[in-house]
Amino acid sequence: MAIDTIVADKKAKKMPMIRITDILDKVRAFLPADDLARIMKAHVYAATVHRGQMRLSGEPYLSHPTAVANILAEMKMDGSSIVAGLLHDTIEDTHTTLEDIENNFGKDVAFLVDGLTKLSKIAFSNKEERQAENFRKMVLAMSADIRILLVRLADRVHNMQTLDYHASEEKRQEIARETLELYAPLANRLGIYWMKVELENMAFSHLNPQAYNALYANVFSKVKEREVFTAGVKEIIAQEMEDAGIAAEVEGRAKHIFSIFSKMQRQRVSFDEIYDLIAFRIILEENNKTMCYATLSIIHARWKPVQGRFKDYIAMPKANKYQSLHTTVIGPNGERIEIQIRTREMHEWAERGIAAHWLYKEEDKQAGDSNKQIEKIRELLEMQQEIDSPREYMSHLKMALFSDDVYVFTPAGDVKEFPKDATPIDFAYAVHTNVGDKCVGARVNGKMVPLRYKLQNGDTVEIITQAVHQPSRDWLKIVVTSRAKSKIKAWIREEDKKRTIELGRDALEKELGKNQEKLSSFLKSEKFSEIIKANSLENTDALFAIIGKGKLSPKSVVNRYLDREEERHEANAKTSSKRKDAAKHDTARVSAAGVDNMMVRFAKCCDPIPGDKIYGFISRGRGIVAHTRTCPHVANVEDDRLIELKWTTKEKEVYPVHMRVICRDRKGVLADVSSAITSQDANIAHAQVKTENKDMEAICTFKIDVHDLEHYRKVVGAVNKLTCVLSVERLRGR
Ligand code: MN
Repeated sequence: MAIDTIVADKKAKKMPMIRITDILDKVRAFLPADDLARIMKAHVYAATVHRGQMRLSGEPYLSHPTAVANILAEMKMDGSSIVAGLLHDTIEDTHTTLEDIENNFGKDVAFLVDGLTKLSKIAFSNKEERQAENFRKMVLAMSADIRILLVRLADRVHNMQTLDYHASEEKRQEIARETLELYAPLANRLGIYWMKVELENMAFSHLNPQAYNALYANVFSKVKEREVFTAGVKEIIAQEMEDAGIAAEVEGRAKHIFSIFSKMQRQRVSFDEIYDLIAFRIILEENNKTMCYATLSIIHARWKPVQGRFKDYIAMPKANKYQSLHTTVIGPNGERIEIQIRTREMHEWAERGIAAHWLYKEEDKQAGDSNKQIEKIRELLEMQQEIDSPREYMSHLKMALFSDDVYVFTPAGDVKEFPKDATPIDFAYAVHTNVGDKCVGARVNGKMVPLRYKLQNGDTVEIITQAVHQPSRDWLKIVVTSRAKSKIKAWIREEDKKRTIELGRDALEKELGKNQEKLSSFLKSEKFSEIIKANSLENTDALFAIIGKGKLSPKSVVNRYLDREEERHEANAKTSSKRKDAAKHDTARVSAAGVDNMMVRFAKCCDPIPGDKIYGFISRGRGIVAHTRTCPHVANVEDDRLIELKWTTKEKEVYPVHMRVICRDRKGVLADVSSAITSQDANIAHAQVKTENKDMEAICTFKIDVHDLEHYRKVVGAVNKLTCVLSVERLRGR
């Protein structure tokens, strides 16, 4: 039996041509009659559209989809999967449309064929391990219905079986590598052991024919030499099982060539040092875990177990839900032999993996929704115990829990992973900061898309850049990756810094101009160096920057330059005897959307002061203009065009506020109210009084300078204390 297995490995390449009747005979046992009719119809359909096409083997093309459908029939898949197997290449290789498939075979089949067509566009070239894992995740993510992946795997099995006919050696190597690194691990992850073994062996025979052939010959001769021994061991085990009254099948089979090769590589040993070439297996007919452990103790009573070789995958199943007991014992002749113990049901799962789902879960098949299948995959992925590093475990778990991630290609064919809703801008920043900053558009799968486009699994994304282009603040609203966000914010900060420098430079130049002085001469002067030193500044830009930020007034710089000692220090509102207008505060520093120290212009209409809730209105040309939310000028503006601003001004500065005070008209009200205002250290920039004779009321309007809202409230409190005052009101939206 062991020899048969190996020979089958080798002979698998030369398979007889499959007839549709072979498939129908297989599925008759487990599929209803209408499925048989659909399969017949799909076969005729495929024969028609693929007519005249040939495979490289010289066979009619139809032989390929038929062989794929046959594999799916052997896997006992559902009718739609087998039909999809027959039709899987029709969209790509013929003039058939998806619509046509849907009209003839229904939505379910069309959905599978569409998924298969998309999957077939994934080209995996020789990639490093990290990329290989990304490809695997991408294929999983794209297989919205797990049947798509299963048909794809069956397709690959047949392509590998006929790979010898591929003319180009390079192409053969490429396909074999893709099989080994992408598809065999996926088969393993889905628990389909026979497929993993077959794909690995076939890929290995192409990638390393010398090693494959040498190993093949070695295993063949050794297994043959040990036939008597193998039969003896099987005999003893079978007898023990019979004595214990446990119904079981005993197998002794050679391990597959690629796994022996991997073991030799991993353990750096030669073929002669591999002692467990033959694996014995006891398959219990009854689905009873306790009996598995009972069998284990029978084996251990008969032969001495080797320390540290026992593995309980029943209590702790493998990542792909594989369950079995593994032990190594010192058998007859004092040789080590490996024995696996499992129930028939565990065995079915071990061989067929997720494909067993269609055989056993009849009720799930009725429900037919892909959610249950995805659930199954999640279960698979959540039980990662085979995985070595915690980091890898986490990334798989994340994949299982948030399969919302999308996987897209770079033009070079690398796969990049993004969170759901990621845009081409996120992609651009993932490539390079420069690509992000200069991104003006994107082509996805060859077509132009807006920058708001949401990336989809399998998209190939190409970014269009322009050297003079700059990021936009609006991008912050559509990007989802933290990398893109932080890069855009960094650019905005840098931009604001530049603007502050310009602002300071302009202000200084203007102030010098008033005094008939030139900036260029100032910059060459000794006073300039003095000022730089006195303020511990690094360079000229730093001087412009602190002027731009309002930390140093241009006037004080000019005074110092011209040696006007008396006015060197900037006066503040409190000590100023002058009634200076606070209009210089038509700009202020605020933060918005996480960006600090932005310069904004204040709206003249509503006089926002620190403490007021302020909102920025983005106007083309003038940048951001700040208003209070109650200002009539923005009352009708939609919320999404306004950004909430936060005051960041720390120094005590003054801001203008307009207030209206209504008093009973009597002599001296203006003087009383004025002194109440100044008692709170607020400067009066302007005052006006009007008398309404019919009500005997005086209406006083003041423009006053306050530090902030709290300060203003103190002023209002003091004014309200006056007995003549009827009401105090802040004026906005003039
Ligand atoms: Mn195909």
